[in-house]
Amino acid sequence: MSTPEYEESLLYDTCLVDGEWRGADDGRTFAVTDPATGEVIASVPLMSTAETETAIRAAEAAFGPWRTRTAKDRAAILSRWAAQLLEHREQLARLLTREQGKPLAEARGEIAYAASFLTFYAAEGERVRGEVIPAPAQESRIVVLRQPIGVVGCITPWNLPAAMVTRKAAPALAAGCTVVMKPAEQTPLSALAIAALGRRAGVPPGVLNVITGDAPSIGRTLCDSPAVRLLSFTGSTEVGRLLAAQCAPTVKKLSLELGGNAPFLVFPDADLDAAVDAAVLSKFRHSGQTCVCTNRFLVHDDLYPEFTERFADRVGKLTVGRGDQQGVDVGPLIDQDGLAKAAAHVADAVAQGAEVLVGGGRHREGGTFFEPTVLRGVTPGMRVMREETFGPVAAVASFRTEREAVDLANDSRSGLAGYVFTRDLARAWRVTEALEVGMVGLNTGFLSVETAPFGGVKESGLGREGSHHGIEEFLELKFWHIGGL
Ligand code: ADP
Repeated sequence: MSTPEYEESLLYDTCLVDGEWRGADDGRTFAVTDPATGEVIASVPLMSTAETETAIRAAEAAFGPWRTRTAKDRAAILSRWAAQLLEHREQLARLLTREQGKPLAEARGEIAYAASFLTFYAAEGERVRGEVIPAPAQESRIVVLRQPIGVVGCITPWNLPAAMVTRKAAPALAAGCTVVMKPAEQTPLSALAIAALGRRAGVPPGVLNVITGDAPSIGRTLCDSPAVRLLSFTGSTEVGRLLAAQCAPTVKKLSLELGGNAPFLVFPDADLDAAVDAAVLSKFRHSGQTCVCTNRFLVHDDLYPEFTERFADRVGKLTVGRGDQQGVDVGPLIDQDGLAKAAAHVADAVAQGAEVLVGGGRHREGGTFFEPTVLRGVTPGMRVMREETFGPVAAVASFRTEREAVDLANDSRSGLAGYVFTRDLARAWRVTEALEVGMVGLNTGFLSVETAPFGGVKESGLGREGSHHGIEEFLELKFWHIGGL
């Protein structure tokens, strides 16, 4: 059980299963560290197959009573949960910064974003409606019910450790589903704190279970279980592909938000000030560690020298440091692997002729800090163009024609976000329609909002999260043909 001090700091170091705070069956734990300092913040349970099965059983048992509650009842709980998040915004933001590294301002923004899904889906759950469809005969009727799919397995990433929890749990619970959630091993503390606030808000035992531990065995157990009817995953394309294969034997519904390789197109008629502002935001927020962060800047030849110069100038002024320090724009990378990838992408680009305009290496802060970097003279074959860097490295390439820009943008197996800067309305429509992505930012570097459908095409995933579309993932249609009337 959590102690009063735990409640104060919201630092929970046990897992929530069937409404109880529990450790692993064998007592094993693993450490959660602060990426800015390497310091151990807490040790959380190293759970595996047996505990996952227990959590699935709890979610299964809770499903019947939860689905039969009224939508209004569920909405009231979700609204109270949102209020809890906002009331504890500062504590949650500090915890998030400690385990994830992002600047406090970004962490505060994330908590508000996380609460927005609870508020939105509290209302949306009350709008889940069926249909009556004209029937083929006078004595029959066709009715369509929309019912909760059942137990949902959720696996979330470390880059948005709070918002990805509520983006999945809020629509799931609003629809009447129950959840077994596994947060990323780097950032489980935000998920546990949010679950604790959910309990305080009245989420019943078993409706939301959060387990931490061995990702492959927890993932495998969720995939193998016939009781789990939907797997909702946000993370890398590589793991998404593996989970999809593992879900095939139980023909599980999948909701996948996977990697991106976002292009950012700057046309000759663009507002250059706005484009540079958006370029900084879309590349360097969360140290470049979001799936909608720009990965490839494609700038028209005529603007290329000026854009790269102004962009590099702005990037050179970004302040790198610990997330809890005043005035910091860019925090550390999540771990050594993240650091190694950023360094490898820069090295590969430079070896193939790219020029470093600013940054280019590890930051003097040490640890996993990397300098905000701008590369000029980037060409399509470089790793930085082909793979998602997930770090503060901006690769800027050039193009001559609109056709070339669109072809370069679409030359990727990913298709999540894209950004377009132009003031020409016809071009904006043409390019938006031609881009093979799920989301387009026109003259903006900002996309994520709870009221819009977030998601990708191609290997960036399946399904949408957020908006009225997002709740559909958690609902099944049941067609009812009534005869003999
Ligand atoms: P990243 O490479 O950015 O850490 P991952 O896709 O590895 O992204 O991680 C996203 C989530 O997927 C995390 O919660 C992680 O623990 C989980 N995960 C990683 N490997 C597996 C796996 N084999 N089965 C299930 N979940 C996994």
